[in-house]
Amino acid sequence: MAVQNGDRPVFRALALPHLDALLARAGLDEADRLRARAVAEVLPFRTNSYVVDELIDWRAAPEDPMYRLVFPQPDMLPRADVDRIARMLREGASADRLRADVHEIRLRLNPHPSGQRDLNTPLLDGVPAEGMQHKYAETLLFFPRQGQTCHAYCSYCFRWPQFVGEPDLRMASGDAEALTSYVRAHPEITSVLITGGDPLIMSSAVLARYVEPLLEIPHLESVRLGTKALSYWPHRFLTDPDADELLRLFERVVRGGRNLALMGHYSHPRELEPEPAVRALRRVQDTGAVVRCQAPLIRGVNDRAEDWAVLWRRLVAQGAVPYYMFVERDTGPQDYFAVPLARAHELFREAYAQVSGLARTVRGPIMSATPGKVQVDGVAEVGGRRAFVLHYVQARDPELVGRPFFAAYDPDARWLTDLKPLPGDGPLPGLD
Ligand SMILES: *Cc1c(COP(=O)(O)O)cnc(C)c1O
Repeated sequence: MAVQNGDRPVFRALALPHLDALLARAGLDEADRLRARAVAEVLPFRTNSYVVDELIDWRAAPEDPMYRLVFPQPDMLPRADVDRIARMLREGASADRLRADVHEIRLRLNPHPSGQRDLNTPLLDGVPAEGMQHKYAETLLFFPRQGQTCHAYCSYCFRWPQFVGEPDLRMASGDAEALTSYVRAHPEITSVLITGGDPLIMSSAVLARYVEPLLEIPHLESVRLGTKALSYWPHRFLTDPDADELLRLFERVVRGGRNLALMGHYSHPRELEPEPAVRALRRVQDTGAVVRCQAPLIRGVNDRAEDWAVLWRRLVAQGAVPYYMFVERDTGPQDYFAVPLARAHELFREAYAQVSGLARTVRGPIMSATPGKVQVDGVAEVGGRRAFVLHYVQARDPELVGRPFFAAYDPDARWLTDLKPLPGDGPLPGLD
């Protein structure tokens, strides 16, 4: 049970020291527990008492989708790597040797996909501005230093390098002034997206230090917060000591004439079942904030059309707006969790066909790739050949946005870089 303090649930994180007992609860034998623990040496593991008590169906574990969403899977990484780390754990290898081997495995997991660091880091007075990404003209991404953890980690997380305790792999900034100066100097930026980690892991006072100065900038139209707190710790909006202060901050943004968009990460309809989750969503919206929802499509977690249709319907019923269905990025345990693009499109279409127009604000499946966000629109016959039809929803080069293009159909392709042009066509747009 969640620890109670009077009537107030108190956040309790569960991490490596708790892992073996939880894996045993899921029914894993000793060998698989050791392998799952080996995975958790390489990729981050953290959950909390709310996720364990309210979201996971332990009778269905380890197949339960909520269990798979947060727990390391014994076969999530290449077998040889898992075996090597498992052996070191069994033999009690020194922390130094373990760290070196783990680091080497991490570097092979493409820690910074989509050229995030090399291509998107902006300059402020000629110096790279740490903890910011300015990829699309209108939107600046900001990674506050204090927001680089989450209430629980998703097993497939594409931002895993933020959490593994290796400073060289991480993006973050504690400089609220740099953020404000950069936005001020760039009138094309209308939206600041504060992300992480999860910015709502920060206290409301610290979050306010980043957000409030932005409200002085006339050309800023929206502040977005990327978060999974509505699913993983809804008490953040209900009974945490600074929950009310957080809601007052949202109200100030809205009263300042800006859109406060909570980009809620919802992976599975179960996340909307507990009563606190529904109440938290309601409270956020009562401030005038808009909740928009997004998640990647993950094998074994939410790869059923029915789950997406139910999720989108429940969200719309609660007043939230479905936004993106993403494709799992080409990093970390992609080999384990990816759903091929052709299958992803089928799933998306099947779910989309079951919902009212109010839920068809959702776009997908979307690859957030180096040149931009690419949507798979479907499969068509082009000049006698099967082809994917795609378009850029967002692009580093605005000329690419909204123009359909084709790629050769390949049932196994999982990412933009797996796709080939049709015979006789030039390179795919954005990849030339
Ligand atoms: C997705 C994304 C954004 C936001 O794009 P929208 O289409 O406006 O939601 C901004 N920056 C980066 C780097 C992104 O990946």
